[in-house]
Amino acid sequence: MKNFLIILFLLLLLIGCNTNPQIEPEQGSEEVDTTCDQEGIILQILGSGGPAAGDARASTGYLVWVDGRPLVMIDAGGGTFLRLQQAKAHIRNIEFLGISHFHPDHASELPALLWSDIFSNRPTPLNVSGPVGEGSDGLKGFLSAVNDMAVPIDAFTRINAIEVTPQKDSITTVYKDELLNVTAIGVNHANKPTLAYKVTIDNKSIVFGADQTLDTPGFINFAKGADLLVLHLAISEEADKPFTNLHAKPLKVGSMAQESGVQRLVLSHLMKLDSVHPRAREFSLSDINTNLKLVKDSFEGTIILAEDLACIGI
Ligand SMILES: [Zn+2]
Repeated sequence: MKNFLIILFLLLLLIGCNTNPQIEPEQGSEEVDTTCDQEGIILQILGSGGPAAGDARASTGYLVWVDGRPLVMIDAGGGTFLRLQQAKAHIRNIEFLGISHFHPDHASELPALLWSDIFSNRPTPLNVSGPVGEGSDGLKGFLSAVNDMAVPIDAFTRINAIEVTPQKDSITTVYKDELLNVTAIGVNHANKPTLAYKVTIDNKSIVFGADQTLDTPGFINFAKGADLLVLHLAISEEADKPFTNLHAKPLKVGSMAQESGVQRLVLSHLMKLDSVHPRAREFSLSDINTNLKLVKDSFEGTIILAEDLACIGI
């Protein structure tokens, strides 16, 4: 296993991914390049974890930097409010914030970020999108549920709320301007309306697969051609229901990435339960090396294991 990791690390060096974290999962954060304020398009991991605490990871969140500006944020799970500051990014500079679904590990810090944005002297409204449909009251419902003030939160924060009804067989344009194009497709995540997003800037694209079982037929086409694909590796090959109604197992993650034709795959939403938990082995970080190897068995491209604050060049 040690040889496997060394070979993987050398491969990463060979293809020049010098802004990527190394694939060795247990390294300290000092090995991770956290300076994303650079030329070009860079994905920064704000949170590489899921809902379970205990692995020192923030819950899910991603930032896309463009020539030194943090332009796009996808998801705002617990811990991302602080990670954003550690990334030296300011909410004021974010133009678009997309929420994949309204489980707390993806949306719980949205109210805190919007509350903070009141004080940011934002020049233009923040564009915020999220799914709406059976099982979710959508963005406005979510914000009104956490807001006990008499005035709606968007009265203060100048947000442009974009409610998206997930479509599983067609692609929805969520937001578009001269620089940025954001599209989405609906994916299966138990009974929760959920969106996978594609962020395209200067003909470069990143697909954020979101929490899903990877059995939505349209998703492969949606991911095709992406320069970077972010998939979630929450569970292990041993997992069973109800977790398999929410997430895909490692072999499926690898085979879907392979089928989509992408060359670079980021694995995130890593999960570790307390080892005394009777179902701990059903989660990815219980034995990350084995689970990583399973993905690698079915995917021939480069695999990057997400670490909080890591910078990944596109
Ligand atoms: Zn999640």
